[in-house]
Amino acid sequence: MWTKETKVVILTGAGISAESGIRTFRASDGLWEEHRIEDVATPMGWERNPQLVWDFYQERRRQLFEVGPNPGHVALTKLEEYLDEMLLVTQNVDNLHDRAGSKNLIHIHGELEKLRCEECDYVGIMMEDHDLTSSFVSCPECSNAVMRPHIVWFHEMPMRMSEIEKALNQCDVFIAIGTSGHVYPAAGFLASAKQQGSHCIGINLDPPLNFDLFDEFHQGKAGEILPELVHQWINTEQP
Ligand code: NAD
Ligand code: ZN
Repeated sequence: MWTKETKVVILTGAGISAESGIRTFRASDGLWEEHRIEDVATPMGWERNPQLVWDFYQERRRQLFEVGPNPGHVALTKLEEYLDEMLLVTQNVDNLHDRAGSKNLIHIHGELEKLRCEECDYVGIMMEDHDLTSSFVSCPECSNAVMRPHIVWFHEMPMRMSEIEKALNQCDVFIAIGTSGHVYPAAGFLASAKQQGSHCIGINLDPPLNFDLFDEFHQGKAGEILPELVHQWINTEQP
């Protein structure tokens, strides 16, 4: 089934970073790290209580220094090296795919290491010690505005959707890894890929919501399963 020319789109979610020590989203009843999603992951939450939201993301941002990519992240870089065309779309806001060495990568829900100015739209990696405290950070471009997390909150538009739709329309294989299938539009990628004839593969600890659409499902931990699967895919090239 696999050759170097096979066009592959991969969607990853919080599950691929779980073995690196970053908690998933829906581990317990709509609470994320003991916070209500509406309080810390919506524009209304930011408007209502910016300090709470800021402290929440500052903690997540500082955590990036304590974690590293796991064998699941690394396996995907091996697959990308082998294939001519692979797009990795991640819902994760951590930088573990980047640090593992993935290249053609879209962070559909934003990136923890970046901050954004709502006044002048400046976006940049801001991870110095003085950017990581409980004090708000002012914009390096227009100086009077306060930076916000460069995160796509609920009710906001995911990033680079048209590029993703184009890749989904052309892919031969679609693989979803460590994602529960609850958060749209990402949860709809599987149905789009399936509809246009892609072979759809799922890798997840628990069967996700849209489980029945997969042509092939591998249940277990991504860090344990993916290295072996990638090895097989790379070595099953037809003569
Ligand atoms: P989710 O928490 O809803 O689902 C995670 C899925 O991963 C679950 O189905 C679970 O069974 C599975 N899983 C857990 N451990 C796994 C492992 N070791 N290997 C394979 N699968 C495993 O997460 P989601 O679907 O990504 O959607 C939630 C949202 O949460 C996204 O919008 C994302 O931006 C945000 N988020 C990101 C991070 C991060 O950046 N690491 C962490 C938490 C939440
Ligand atoms: Zn600015």
